[in-house]
Amino acid sequence: MEKIKHYTIPVFVPELACPFQCAFCNQEKISGHQNIPTEKEITDSFDAYLRSFRETNRHVEVGFFGGTFTGIPLAEQENYLRLVQPYLDAGTIHGIRLSTRPDYINSAVLSILKQYRVTTIELGAQSLDDEVLKASYRGHTARQVEQASEMIRDAGFDLGLQMMIGLPEDTLEKSLATAQKIIELGASNTRIYPALVIRDTAMHQWFRQGKYKPLSLEEAVEWSRPLLLMFEKARVNVIRMGLHPSESLLDHTDLVAGPFHPSFRELVLTQIWKELFIPLLRENKGKKVEIQVPAAELNAAIGHHSENKKILLRHFHEVKFVPVEKLKNRNFRLTILPDQE
Ligand code: SF4
Repeated sequence: MEKIKHYTIPVFVPELACPFQCAFCNQEKISGHQNIPTEKEITDSFDAYLRSFRETNRHVEVGFFGGTFTGIPLAEQENYLRLVQPYLDAGTIHGIRLSTRPDYINSAVLSILKQYRVTTIELGAQSLDDEVLKASYRGHTARQVEQASEMIRDAGFDLGLQMMIGLPEDTLEKSLATAQKIIELGASNTRIYPALVIRDTAMHQWFRQGKYKPLSLEEAVEWSRPLLLMFEKARVNVIRMGLHPSESLLDHTDLVAGPFHPSFRELVLTQIWKELFIPLLRENKGKKVEIQVPAAELNAAIGHHSENKKILLRHFHEVKFVPVEKLKNRNFRLTILPDQE
């Protein structure tokens, strides 16, 4: 059967008056960069996206991102949600997802979202460790994330829990524990954002004073590797890895330091495949080999900038990667090819 193609039409909801001051976020800059889209611009963008989708077997969602959706005035929330209703009725759009803060969830909010047929609610959890939340000035506790998650699940929504790594007071162990909690709370999806130092934030000040040190790119990749494997094992869809929630709205001059890389996920996948290939380096030195890998994983197996292939080529005389559709997950097959006469 033909695979269903998933699309999300993004709508960036302006965060004009966020009352919080998370240590990693420069919300003034964010607000300054934002244009408030008109209703016509929003529905025009729905139509343009829908016209551009080629696959007929598709599942289309509208995603309201960029802010604390349930923190904006109720009338505005309803205005946004109302725009999607004719598309849901027509069956051209199939669901609505939105992101918000855990402390902006209550039963009244959830019943309105249900009424407007919202399907997925993503919470910016960032961490499920109270020390990390406190040190990052998040303004909510881990317990609040747990309570909001339970309410969202009980009300029948799909739950997304976003996490950040490398915030003040964070450790690899705490990040792993956060991921474990995210799984236990029944999230169906997550996003992993390495914390970055953005200009004019509390973390920027601490960075200048030597009180905060962001993860290096290598560390962020190293931390993310087991997180991704944990989520995959628990069938939690990792929608995105890398890029700070605010960073997508800022230009690069606002990025002061931190493990930013445009292909962050690829770097993590490269390391996962590298671990799988290391046992191959124990035998068959100097041989010509063919490695069959799942077609969907070909680039990751070869590695970012061919990193894995280069490592293998230090051991084998020749390495040929072959994509195979029917190989799944990270299964692969190594064949020793005959030496040429
Ligand atoms: S991350 Fe979100 S909640 Fe925190 S200060 Fe920025 S906009 Fe406000």
